[in-house]
Amino acid sequence: MGLPMLALAGFVVYLSFAGADIADERERRQFEESLKIEEAKRISAAVVEVTLARQGQAKAEVERLEKEGLGATSTGNATSRPTSSSSVSSTAGSGTRPQARKGAAGAVNGKLASGQSLFGALTAHELSISQIQPAINSLSTIFDFRKSRPKDRYEAHYDARGNILELRYQRNLEVVYVAKRGKEGKYAASKQDVPVKSKVVSIGGTVRGTLSRAIIDAGENQKLVSKFIDIFAYDIDFGSDTKPGDTFRLVFEKVYIEGKMVRYGNILAAEYKGVKKSMRAYRGGDGGYFDETGQSLRRMFLRNPVKFARITSKFGKRLHPVLKTWKQHNGVDYAAATGTPINPIANGTVLFAGEKGANGNLIAIQHPNGWVSYYAHLSRFGKIKKGSKVTQSMVVGYVGSTGRSTGPHLHLGVKRENGEFVDPLTIHSTRSVGLKGDKLRQHKRRVKEMIRKLDMTRIRPPSKGPEEPMPVGGDDMGGFEDKPATSGKPQKTTPHN
Ligand SMILES: [Zn+2]
Repeated sequence: MGLPMLALAGFVVYLSFAGADIADERERRQFEESLKIEEAKRISAAVVEVTLARQGQAKAEVERLEKEGLGATSTGNATSRPTSSSSVSSTAGSGTRPQARKGAAGAVNGKLASGQSLFGALTAHELSISQIQPAINSLSTIFDFRKSRPKDRYEAHYDARGNILELRYQRNLEVVYVAKRGKEGKYAASKQDVPVKSKVVSIGGTVRGTLSRAIIDAGENQKLVSKFIDIFAYDIDFGSDTKPGDTFRLVFEKVYIEGKMVRYGNILAAEYKGVKKSMRAYRGGDGGYFDETGQSLRRMFLRNPVKFARITSKFGKRLHPVLKTWKQHNGVDYAAATGTPINPIANGTVLFAGEKGANGNLIAIQHPNGWVSYYAHLSRFGKIKKGSKVTQSMVVGYVGSTGRSTGPHLHLGVKRENGEFVDPLTIHSTRSVGLKGDKLRQHKRRVKEMIRKLDMTRIRPPSKGPEEPMPVGGDDMGGFEDKPATSGKPQKTTPHN
């Protein structure tokens, strides 16, 4: 095939990618959205149950009211008791704001609205400011209210005089901060752990398209997918190394409150058997992951800076789809949806974070031994600035399509201490230190049990139904300077693995 034909073929491929991009992106969003809704439903159901169970008096109160036909169903989540039906009032414009009734004991509860403080929320319930203040002051000795977020839960019980007897504040499902009124109106604050139960479960499945899809088909969600990918992130690129027929098995914990699952605990053991790569990982006592022999799976460089991405362009000379000229591509392109979080490939210090010509929004990170990594075309930055220390687990920025780019993707470039760009996919870095002595002996005991569990786990056959699509994006980035990349010596396009 002559060069013009090749160019034409490249152009056609490019066009069909661009077309697929829009539809794929929409479907993917819908899919993600449905996941989020499901998750939210599950969590809110759990919260309601927990709150109800902890209300004690309040719950009994509600039941009593319901018997009397005065159930607070029309006033949202209030459980206050009116002294007489005529005293029920509502503020202008909002008929649902539950209020503390004067002259009667009761309770109010709710979730913080966006931008609302606990103080604001309680005053909106018309609790007296002179009562709210000391209760909140007491809580603030054990909880930093600057960390308050919308949807944090609160609950206040008051007596007939309007004294707040107990104020409860729940930052998450598992911890409640409580201020209790003692004698002479003094409050004592305490932190209470909600009792949780953790159950060890295992799943196994077969990949047909993406790993995400396969794990979700096994009845779990994206959060577990993330945890799984994190474990193998140094060795397996789940965007490009996964092939139909690959299998996985997982032994992990599910955390329950009052019978409802609220989150995943730790993954205790994980297995991936692939055409390209097969591995097993076991959690060590310190939280890291190791192989059977106690060798750490952690390396200096992460395999991939984005979890859910596909490599659309590798390092080296390539025929540019639009310009139809041969250009050096000094990095790897990962196609991912706009907003996908980016982790640095190694710990380091931010050298640059800002806009830079064709790179669009760019981050440069300095690593040990003179290595520098570059992240281009970002939609926005994480909480970093020049000089920030970053770790592999931090989000430094988000995928975008700023600068010279044809669609949302991350361009990753890696430079050695001698100033040469290298293929990020061929960097081999040594593993972190493994387990020794007692720790190794303990690990080997745990591994024995985990091998048994993994081996017993049934691998589900691949599911039918639509596959989750991935977005596409690309660029013609030769380097990270404002001037185009110099031709230099030819680089071989070594595919990884
Ligand atoms: Zn690129």
